[in-house]
Amino acid sequence: MLALRTTSVSLNRDKVWSKSQAEKYVATTGHGAFEQTNMALQVPKPVAAIDLIAAVPVTLVAGRRASCNGGGGALGHPRVFFNLDDGQAVACSYCGLKYQKDPHAGHGHH
Ligand SMILES: [Zn+2]
Repeated sequence: MLALRTTSVSLNRDKVWSKSQAEKYVATTGHGAFEQTNMALQVPKPVAAIDLIAAVPVTLVAGRRASCNGGGGALGHPRVFFNLDDGQAVACSYCGLKYQKDPHAGHGHH
């Protein structure tokens, strides 16, 4: 019986980002689909979503709470809310967009 196999590391990333992942050379060795593939030569150059979303700047929010629906519409996701009280940036668990309480908002005029 043919068993479906998955790799535990994204092929377009060089490094792992979770303890449960294997290094790329380990994850792709022995998988026929990848034996002939040199990802460095693939065109267009694949870019991992995790790298794209990491490049999006944090959205500063004037308040203690933020919500995200991923932009809405067909590309969005159900609206979720985040508490920003601790002042740290919070990443949306659906789409990875980051929100942070604006430390300069809500103090009126200086
Ligand atoms: Zn989101």
